[in-house]
Amino acid sequence: MGEGDEAWLRQRVIDAALDLASTGLSPQMSGNVSARMGERVFITPSGVAYTDLMPGDLSEIALDGRVLSGPFPPSSEWHMHCAIYEAFPEAGGIVHAHSDFATVLAVMKREIPPFHYMVAVAGGKDIRVAPYATFGTEELARNAVTALEGRRACLLAHHGQIAFGPTVEDALHLAHEVETLSAQYWRALQLGEPDLLPDEEMAVNVEKFRNYGRKG
Ligand code: 13P
Ligand code: ZN
Repeated sequence: MGEGDEAWLRQRVIDAALDLASTGLSPQMSGNVSARMGERVFITPSGVAYTDLMPGDLSEIALDGRVLSGPFPPSSEWHMHCAIYEAFPEAGGIVHAHSDFATVLAVMKREIPPFHYMVAVAGGKDIRVAPYATFGTEELARNAVTALEGRRACLLAHHGQIAFGPTVEDALHLAHEVETLSAQYWRALQLGEPDLLPDEEMAVNVEKFRNYGRKG
């Protein structure tokens, strides 16, 4: 990829970060966004309001977290982003958010069970909750990678959610889906425990999502 591709990728990370701010998916400066280009990762800087971000403000880091360039320190969650890129080679973009309903479920350590067929959009029959660890730690990164086994999204206990995809736009889209599912599940719980779809049916849905929405 050339310089033009890098500029384009940086802009796409900024656009995803601006979406977090404008849609309210992650309040204030919470959450972070990254995209991978080969062995390099462009990640939002730590503690900078998204609305103030310019493409040149992103931190460029290596997969081992070494800072390659950028005016600010990288997101405190660089361990989690890099661990996901290392563990899931198909990951091209990552979005971490403290979205309301996903965080409520994460606080209660309630995984999202197969109450709706759309749960399969995250790659499996459920969306797990990674055990709590302090933000920004390697332990949190390890816990997230374990909870993401066979999935593209998980909740993070007492924290929020994280989603990845082949592109940063896919990751953002999935983070929105996780928030919608969390809100729907939470609302269903107000009326009681919903029936769950059987494993065989979720396996069918997971398979259908493999090619869903792919054009050409
Ligand atoms: P950063 O501003 O360092 O990315 O941290 C936000 C966050 O959500 C930590 O988990
Ligand atoms: Zn966070």
